[in-house]
Amino acid sequence: MIASVNNKKNTYTDDFRDHLATLDDQGKRKWVFANKPSGKFYRLRTILSLGYFVVFFGLPFVYVNDRPLFLFNVIKAKFILFGKIFWPQDFFILGLGMIAFILFIILFTAAFGRLFCGWACPQTNFMEMMFRKVEYWIEGDAPKQKMLARQSWNSQKIFKKSVKHVLFFVLSFVIANFFIAYIIGIKELQQIITEPVGQHLSGFASILVFSGIFYGVYAHFREQACTVVCPYGRLQGVLLDKNSMVVAYDYKRGEPRGLAKKTAESFFGDCIDCHACVKVCPTGIDIRNGVQMECVGCTACIDACDNIMDKIGKPRGLIRYASENSIANGEQLRYTGRMKLYTALCGMVVLILSFILITRKDVDATIMRTPGILYQTRGTDSISNLYNIKVANKTTRQIPLTIQLEDKGGIIEIIGKPFIDVAKEGQGSGSFFVVLPANKLHRRKTNVKLVLYERSKKVGVINTSFLGPVSE
Ligand code: SF4
Ligand code: SF4
Repeated sequence: MIASVNNKKNTYTDDFRDHLATLDDQGKRKWVFANKPSGKFYRLRTILSLGYFVVFFGLPFVYVNDRPLFLFNVIKAKFILFGKIFWPQDFFILGLGMIAFILFIILFTAAFGRLFCGWACPQTNFMEMMFRKVEYWIEGDAPKQKMLARQSWNSQKIFKKSVKHVLFFVLSFVIANFFIAYIIGIKELQQIITEPVGQHLSGFASILVFSGIFYGVYAHFREQACTVVCPYGRLQGVLLDKNSMVVAYDYKRGEPRGLAKKTAESFFGDCIDCHACVKVCPTGIDIRNGVQMECVGCTACIDACDNIMDKIGKPRGLIRYASENSIANGEQLRYTGRMKLYTALCGMVVLILSFILITRKDVDATIMRTPGILYQTRGTDSISNLYNIKVANKTTRQIPLTIQLEDKGGIIEIIGKPFIDVAKEGQGSGSFFVVLPANKLHRRKTNVKLVLYERSKKVGVINTSFLGPVSE
């Protein structure tokens, strides 16, 4: 990280560390009026954000086998990922998934910095690519916004502010609806929307509460969600190192900053201290002060500086994606061996998680011998053990479950019914006897293999032990 330079005296200071860019000397919030970016990164981000919104608003409508592709129903502790349902008993997989996810974040951030924040984070996408665009459309670019903020409340200001905030609330309302669709499913959301309010009071209230939260975040809280609240942002200090790829100012090339007179021998670097990069920053920071936690990697300053470099006839890239080491050594950022290694590790983590998801069984059964009962003698030649079975059905169909014994030549007797009925996306339980010929038992504990069938389809195999009277 570099310090800021006082241009007149050419001495370095790092007083920017003493205060937040968005607070004034009294500790009051300074509203960030960010200039509208323009340039190749902004164009690319605009295009990608359209795809992003299509995915965000489209996914809740995607159903696979009568089940949403994704559902995060924290209220019912029911999660659906890629059409596969997860219940609390899948805690192991979710735990593994969490570890894999955290590992992925650590590796990804160490290699690529805040690439996620700038390009894929919902907060950045909605704030910069939706709400701020609406703001530019209604109030104009930053200088006009500043003027509007300063001017008295005349009819023009009342009109513009009203239209903006009504639109902001409508957008927040739409986002809140889709956000809730990810929690309860689009079909339940449709019921809340189409049926009388009295029948869905809590659902309706949730929509309003989330609309209010989103409106509050995008209309008022804004960049502070990233700079003050976001835990991922707070972690940057420990996840980044000098080889991480970040949006960085090339201080070797740019300093000392200042405008060189055309005739004079240039004492200055390429930075003309125009502040275009600062004025465009949505978090209000000066990237020339080095990597800062407040930088969300939105690339607006890259575009702003590239435009200035084009105008003054200097090469682009004074601000660019780079690592501290690549700037210190004057090199262009390369896809280094370390990045390749981290990418490979991230890929491995994703593969392992995908494997776990794909090979996950639709039916989970737990079998335990009934406590307090050892075995029963059946007639003169057979022994039985009593078991309890609990089954979780993760499919969207009802499963009539039967159990068969493999190898040992015995029989299964399900108590009270010919099969165990397991409701769709529900649980079933029952008790059954395993009856074995006494001559097959040569020791006190014999291993038996029980095969679970949904009609003729094998859905699981469970190994358990069978107790008999023969001592070892
Ligand atoms: S936009 Fe470029 S030239 Fe202007 S102040 Fe920022 S770094 Fe310097
Ligand atoms: S410093 Fe640059 S990349 Fe970082 S938030 Fe500001 S404009 Fe975006």
